[in-house]
Amino acid sequence: MSLIVQKYGGTSVGSTERIQAVAAKVKQSRDAGHKVVVVVSAMSGETDRLLGLAHALQAQPSPRELDVLLSTGEQVTIALLAMALEALGCPARSYTGAQVQVRTDSAHNKARITNIDGARVQSDLDAGRVVIVAGFQGIDEHGNITTLGRGGSDTSAVAMAAALKADECQIYTDVDGVYTTDPRIEPKARRLPRITFEEMLEMASLGSKVLQIRAVEFAGKYRVPLRVLSSFQAGEGTLITFEEDHVEEAKIAGIAFAKDEAKLTILGVPDQPGVAHKILGPISDANIEVDMIIQNIAADAQTTDFTFTVHRNDYAKALGILQDTARALSAREVHGDERIVKVSLVGVGMRSHAGIASRMFEALAREGINIRMISTSEIKISVVIDEKYLELGVRALHDAFDLAKEA
Ligand code: ASP
Ligand code: MG
Repeated sequence: MSLIVQKYGGTSVGSTERIQAVAAKVKQSRDAGHKVVVVVSAMSGETDRLLGLAHALQAQPSPRELDVLLSTGEQVTIALLAMALEALGCPARSYTGAQVQVRTDSAHNKARITNIDGARVQSDLDAGRVVIVAGFQGIDEHGNITTLGRGGSDTSAVAMAAALKADECQIYTDVDGVYTTDPRIEPKARRLPRITFEEMLEMASLGSKVLQIRAVEFAGKYRVPLRVLSSFQAGEGTLITFEEDHVEEAKIAGIAFAKDEAKLTILGVPDQPGVAHKILGPISDANIEVDMIIQNIAADAQTTDFTFTVHRNDYAKALGILQDTARALSAREVHGDERIVKVSLVGVGMRSHAGIASRMFEALAREGINIRMISTSEIKISVVIDEKYLELGVRALHDAFDLAKEA
């Protein structure tokens, strides 16, 4: 008999009818002989609604009280799902995070799980019950309710699967798996039957929103077999594997993109030790995350140019800081562009295949797309291009690497 953790997101439990449909799926798994633990999100829109209530009362509510409030969303769903299961004659019991000792640190609104005591869950499973656990929440060592950050139920499910040594953690969502790229941009995008953890991490960090990135990291660390599937249609979904298990020669897994990027350039800074630090230090002190960084070779042996990218939300702030730095360093000028995007090709096959980068650049050139910045890692090549070329660029790359075709 195998133990499965199933996670259902907000849309999957968005109405009582949908909760009944989830109950039917859960019951089916249990009737097939599995022990089933279900982790659920709040009904769709509920977390946002609660946030709205909070902000109607206080501009910056205390993180502790926000957690007390936000955790109620999931508490509603666990009870309703337990009722729906009981109505089908399937014994079930629901628990909040605190009740099953989902321990976290005290970082309210973005807590990290430190430990889960699976004993209570296990004894219910042994008694033949389906166990339903509220996602997104835990308690800290002082007994305060904490939440894990938006989308945190994915991580709850993976952590629960790790604690119970589950055979599989199934994430049910409104898409039927992980795709070669966003199907809204490239209709020929194809569902991947398998993807490696490393690739999935890159895809998630580059903006593919199928799974919370922390959940993928957690699954990788504890080697939890993870599967993404649709709660609305049947299918195998996408299995996230460890590379060693990955037999076929995968070349490119997919194309990810980050839309809301901005780039800043400081021109004519002295080419001396410590300059990069002088430029980026104040940016990171302001808690602005920097993504790509490029420093040019000095053209005149005395000065150089320096370019980096940030999230578009941080653009104005970063620009102000950089202008101050430019004055302090007597730099020539500062440029900014907030209409850029980052498009990335991701695949473990890059390690063993040469020529991927040139094929990528050739495909973009054919469409007349100018590449503004390039960065590479072992399994990823990213380019920064103008925002208006996003769709064209993604489609050109999807074609150039034949991603619509079965691997
Ligand atoms: N309900 C939370 C949110 O909307 C957690 C989750 O859905 O995973 O972010
Ligand atoms: Mg979610």
